[in-house]
Amino acid sequence: TMRESYVSENDSGFKCLNPSLRSIVVVGGHGQLGKLFCKLFTLSGYQVKVLGSQDWDQADDILSDAGMVVVTVPINRTDTIIRKLTSLPEDCILADLTSIKSEPLQAMLESHSGPVVGLHPMFGPNTPSLAKQVVVYCDGRNPEAYQWLLEQIRIWGASLQRISAIEHDQGMTLIQALRHFTSFVYGVHLAEENPNLAQLISLSSPIYRLELAMVGRLFAQDASLYADIIMSSPQNIDMIKRFHARFGEAIDLLETCDKDQFVDAFSQVENWFGEHAGRFLHESQNLLQQANDSTQR
Ligand code: NAD
Repeated sequence: TMRESYVSENDSGFKCLNPSLRSIVVVGGHGQLGKLFCKLFTLSGYQVKVLGSQDWDQADDILSDAGMVVVTVPINRTDTIIRKLTSLPEDCILADLTSIKSEPLQAMLESHSGPVVGLHPMFGPNTPSLAKQVVVYCDGRNPEAYQWLLEQIRIWGASLQRISAIEHDQGMTLIQALRHFTSFVYGVHLAEENPNLAQLISLSSPIYRLELAMVGRLFAQDASLYADIIMSSPQNIDMIKRFHARFGEAIDLLETCDKDQFVDAFSQVENWFGEHAGRFLHESQNLLQQANDSTQR
């Protein structure tokens, strides 16, 4: 399987697509995602250096022979840190792994006149394998100079998706900001209602358990990363406010006990999902089947 091949390649290393590249400097390389990328680059035969928060007095030295610089620092510091990278070697590739793309890409293009690419790995640092994981990328400048990087990421198992920074950020408003925020609110609600969680779990067959897990897993992760993702743009907050308004409208339906209108709205949404609705039902059944097969309780 893809996963087994990753694990075995992981032990022996990955093929190196650009052996003549000078060192790769990972700014924030001691962080969660930074560590993972340092490991992947090292396993692929590149020379990797970390520029951590305490290393800026030696930055000129660390950056002087960089063939590529990858920025992976807290979202709210990314812009400032990128704007310090103004004297990289002309042919050096400047890349970032930030969960938002417009602002960092703009900052990279303004700080550096060489090749620039924005990356967004759509997975967290604990993902056991990159197989089937998505890495979104936004072209910045001189794409011919970093095609090897995209190909290298494909060798790690990920699939690459190209998009403009603006469309990326619009998509993430729904995929990340709204979803994480609704999970956050659901968690806050549960904590304040304070039900017997063990009892709720015992009443939950796999689908309900999975839905609880999808909310609960958020709270096993880094609060400040999610705060930054949700608060990263005013369009996220506008989207969340529209969702809130629709919640209110839906409650009006309940209060008037207007079942016809509920059924009507339901079938409009069903139409909107189209053939995806049935496909999602099927896909989630398969996921649950797999989850059942692998869960030991
Ligand atoms: P993190 O807090 O674990 O790591 C950030 C690192 O940056 C830390 O080691 C910190 O010391 C370092 N740092 C802070 N200020 C610095 C400075 N001035 N100079 C150099 N280093 C500095 O955060 P993370 O979760 O690894 O996230 C890093 C980036 O990766 C963010 O842009 C985030 O959006 C992106 N990202 C994270 C995930 C995830 O699940 N963790 C997923 C996709 C993308």
